[in-house]
Amino acid sequence: MRDAPRDIKLKRTEGILEISWSDAGPRRYDAKGLRCECGCAGCVDERTGVRTLDVNSVPDDIGITHIELVGNYALKLSFSDGHDTGIYSWDRLDRIKSTL
Ligand SMILES: [Zn+2]
Repeated sequence: MRDAPRDIKLKRTEGILEISWSDAGPRRYDAKGLRCECGCAGCVDERTGVRTLDVNSVPDDIGITHIELVGNYALKLSFSDGHDTGIYSWDRLDRIKSTL
């Protein structure tokens, strides 16, 4: 499992989340890309793993309004469309690499 990042920066005006790992980065993730990757029960069918979120419904100018640490294993992201149930583990963020 991935250790917690060395540094996490939310650049709110740009809508960019910047994550530096001990051995990589900083990696840049844009708000829309992260929103489309959301793996919560409202966006992905828990049983089949199929994405139920229509990514075309995600506005281009979506922003990240809040980030919150979940234990020492993940980040919880709140988006400007009101969606705030997405938990992004270090492993997942590492796997996504970058959305830009
Ligand atoms: Zn979601």
